[in-house]
Amino acid sequence: MVVIMKSGFSQKELENAIRTMEDGGVKVMVSKGSETTILGAEGHADKLDQDKLSLLPGVERVMRVSEPYKKANRKYHPDDTTIALPGGAVVGGNRLTIVAGPCSVESQRQITGIAQSVKLAGAAALRGGAFKPRTSPYSFQGLAEEGIRLLEEARRETGLPIVTEIMSTDDLELFESCVDVIQVGARNMQNFDLLKQLGKSKKPILLKRGLSSTIEEWLMSAEYIMAGGNHQVILCERGIRTFETFTRNTLDLSAILAVKQQSHLPVFVDPSHACGKAWMVARMSLAAVAAGADGLLIEVHNDPKNALCDGPQSITPDEFCTLMQQLDSVAQCVGRTLHAG
Ligand code: PEP
Ligand code: MN
Repeated sequence: MVVIMKSGFSQKELENAIRTMEDGGVKVMVSKGSETTILGAEGHADKLDQDKLSLLPGVERVMRVSEPYKKANRKYHPDDTTIALPGGAVVGGNRLTIVAGPCSVESQRQITGIAQSVKLAGAAALRGGAFKPRTSPYSFQGLAEEGIRLLEEARRETGLPIVTEIMSTDDLELFESCVDVIQVGARNMQNFDLLKQLGKSKKPILLKRGLSSTIEEWLMSAEYIMAGGNHQVILCERGIRTFETFTRNTLDLSAILAVKQQSHLPVFVDPSHACGKAWMVARMSLAAVAAGADGLLIEVHNDPKNALCDGPQSITPDEFCTLMQQLDSVAQCVGRTLHAG
């Protein structure tokens, strides 16, 4: 349940409404937005007396919220959430944030070289996997902790914040101290233990949509992180499993609109994993921005043919540079500012 305050309510009226809700047995989440202040009930809101609350002075109206996600729900928090990254980029609002880099960190030369290229082209952050979730145990598994060290060096060289995937709660300390944005991969979207731990993290979390997850399941995973106290969640659509096999996954562009209607959290799109084909990445990136994405996560490799992971879907630094120029125009059309790194 949410209680929407009248414009011009007094502090006494606010306190009175909060107390009445708390007396009804719920915790109250106060969201002070640009236009409205909303009191969201956490817990067993069904016990609250809706009529009584609606009649309180300063209260405009009371709404029942049927969705199971609350903190991630736009009804609880009408304004878009924005998330500041180290280095000055802001995710969400009217910005367009581009995160680019290789699927996997392979060597210092590779990661620093790509970091320099994508920074020059205007990326706001560097991606690169160090702990890789591979379908086969015989495939390259990533450089693990050494990969994180190489990412840190690339950050020192370029100033770009680093985004990388966590796979295990064992690595929480390492990530908390070294990484700027912690990525939760599609395969771990419902690793609830991991999500609960990330709820205690001070770092923004990039939460990928699960391989076959519904939008509600995805938002419930965001809710796990937020319920733990970490409200800095960026959602990332990366394609879902369908009957179609031409592409690696099927990019669900409508998910951007659905999520932005239902939630205040920023939404990114990863066209690389969605399509699995480098030649589709640019067009799908433009489409995602046209559809309202707050950012993109793009795989860029200096030598895609010899990449240790996901070469076929990786674009080159030159192609990335061209794409950034096209993105700038589309961003302007939809009223967004492309953040320059
Ligand atoms: C990745 O971003 O490198 C990755 C493994 O993505 P996903 O979890 O979406 O498959
Ligand atoms: Mn990849």
